[in-house]
Amino acid sequence: TLDVATFGETMVLFSSDRLVPLEYTHQFYKQIGGAESNVAIGLARLGHQVGWFSKLGNDPFGRYIEKFIRGEGVDTSRCIYTDQAPTAVFFKEKLTPKNINVYYYRKGSAASLLRADELDETYIGSAKMLHLSGITPALSQSAKEAVYKAIEVAKAKGVKIVFDPNIRLKLWSIEEAKPVLLDLIRQADIVLPGVEEGQLITGETQPEKIVDALRAHEQQTFVVKLGAKGAYYTNSQEKGYVPGFTVEEVVDPVGAGDGFAAGVMSGLLRGWTIQEAVRLGNAIGAIVVGVSGDVEGLPYWAEVQQKLEDNGTRQD
Ligand code: ATP
Repeated sequence: TLDVATFGETMVLFSSDRLVPLEYTHQFYKQIGGAESNVAIGLARLGHQVGWFSKLGNDPFGRYIEKFIRGEGVDTSRCIYTDQAPTAVFFKEKLTPKNINVYYYRKGSAASLLRADELDETYIGSAKMLHLSGITPALSQSAKEAVYKAIEVAKAKGVKIVFDPNIRLKLWSIEEAKPVLLDLIRQADIVLPGVEEGQLITGETQPEKIVDALRAHEQQTFVVKLGAKGAYYTNSQEKGYVPGFTVEEVVDPVGAGDGFAAGVMSGLLRGWTIQEAVRLGNAIGAIVVGVSGDVEGLPYWAEVQQKLEDNGTRQD
């Protein structure tokens, strides 16, 4: 039995620590990048039983990804290897610490070949929560069908569905994305959009109005991420803002949303109130932005407990 099951594409990431255009970059560091595996690693570091899987190319990069994630204490036993397509890679260009571009080499990748009939339904059904992102349905028709199948399994088994829209406009246009994301949001129990994503989907700018436009029924929980300002939450009983933690220097903003998701889910799995769970998410998001890399900064439980005890909350 698992606390959380998740799946989606993780790629090998090549990045450089020099602030030059990619065409002048001579050396790259090999890391991994993938929203769902970031969340899985975040949860594992907080002490949860979590499973992540994907379809990987039967190649060195596929093996590297699985070993890395398994090394973080995540169950990767449901990963599937294929000879049909390679593991995807992407490159990160850092022009300034805040001006970062990514270049994907993922079209037709192994993960995009994932199919609904390849899901282990018993495995997904054994989890307390199923985490899904809006990236997977953008990969291919068959990956989109896999997302819908996983939702069907989760609903049949009473597994709570956590959905992060994670809009990637390099993978699909907003016109293509909108109806699919709206439909997936309607089916989820807990939805974690960023405020800018909420604006892209609904046209609204206020967190309350964004949620009003997205909500399908009373039982849904929404948490809207507001960057340094923290987050807005609302469920059937309560709503409010939880201020962000003070960060001395934002080293790398990427991955904050995934760390935040891990924190909110961890809090709810521990039986905390939604407000306490969001505060845990804020603490982890604030820790992650202070460290370079998507997963490197994800804290262990002891570190985040310390952060929660500190009086580092913004007063504005
Ligand atoms: P990502 O870049 O990972 O996709 P996102 O847009 O999904 O991020 P953000 O709102 O940028 O999400 O960040 C998620 C959470 O991390 C915020 O709700 C907040 O709790 C925390 N956070 C992000 N940036 C900062 C910051 N500069 N200072 C303090 N906390 C931050």
